[in-house]
Amino acid sequence: MPAANALEASLARSPRIRTAKHLLEICAALKGEAMLPGVEPAARCGAAKPPDLADVRGQFGAKRALEIAAAGEHGLLLIGPPGAGKTLIAQRLPGLLPDLDDDEAVEVASLESAAGRRPSPNLRRPFRNPHHTASVAALIGGGGFRPGELSLAHRGVLFLDELPEFARNALEALREPLESGVVALARAKRCYEWPARFQLVAAMNPCPCGYHGDARSSCRCTATQVARYRNRISGPLLDRIDIHVEMRALPPEALLEDASCGGEMTADVALRVAAARRTQVARQGKLNARLTAVEVTRICRLGRDSSALLARAITRLGLSARAYHRVLKVARTCADLSGAAQIGAAHIGEAIQLRAPDKPIC
Ligand SMILES: [Zn+2]
Repeated sequence: MPAANALEASLARSPRIRTAKHLLEICAALKGEAMLPGVEPAARCGAAKPPDLADVRGQFGAKRALEIAAAGEHGLLLIGPPGAGKTLIAQRLPGLLPDLDDDEAVEVASLESAAGRRPSPNLRRPFRNPHHTASVAALIGGGGFRPGELSLAHRGVLFLDELPEFARNALEALREPLESGVVALARAKRCYEWPARFQLVAAMNPCPCGYHGDARSSCRCTATQVARYRNRISGPLLDRIDIHVEMRALPPEALLEDASCGGEMTADVALRVAAARRTQVARQGKLNARLTAVEVTRICRLGRDSSALLARAITRLGLSARAYHRVLKVARTCADLSGAAQIGAAHIGEAIQLRAPDKPIC
């Protein structure tokens, strides 16, 4: 391996890997005149501590939604006015997720290397937040046969702030990788595939001005403007995001509270997340967000009470078949977080709450 790639090579943990700075060094080694050095195991420390959940004041509903998203690897859409803390919440997701295992670390480092970036020597999951002006090529890859943002977020988090501002073809390009975990590209008569199994967190304002539904600020957007803004995100894409949560602006008195009012630390929540993820893998070999429709029917069975509650919600919210399966998956994660073997009415109720923004705009 070229010495410059020693870091990536070290992740493979093979004693057979040797590095050279120059072709003459290889010639010397082949003639038996010198030994090529191996690679040291990458030092997997020194990563900055991720931002902590306890630093975010209030927003307990959004924090709970983040915990559920982390536990089941569910996609998360945060809807709220500017300043509600949507970005703060999104940035705290990687800290709740378990570290990359050795194989995942090699995948992440390979993709970073292929993109021409120097891989980071820690096991923290990637967090990518491309700007809404990013081109489709920058998002899905293909420019110079390099992987794009979706693949750089592989095994980690892709955060798309101001989701409706992304170009429509960029949003549509998300749909297939969200299902398959792969970006497939045909360029110059060749096909390329990059892994892109990321967890999507998206954020948006409730309307073009940002203050629809806020009691203190007067939103001047008409119902048509609000509907047009929300319709920039297609139904099929929204359906692929399991959890939708509304965030309100914090009241001024909340800003004056001392830091201890932030609630639980990331480390404590991460313990519950890890336990729930272990439960899922032991039961079905994968996380709840990855369950197929057939598996949902088999694994997410409901009692009579929860069935009736869900049936009423389907009628009231007009949920699509896809949204129905997503409610069941999220309910399964709520049950796993509480250590319950069976999905109860409370879990279904919480999962329905997390689809509440599906309700019509009034
Ligand atoms: Zn508005």
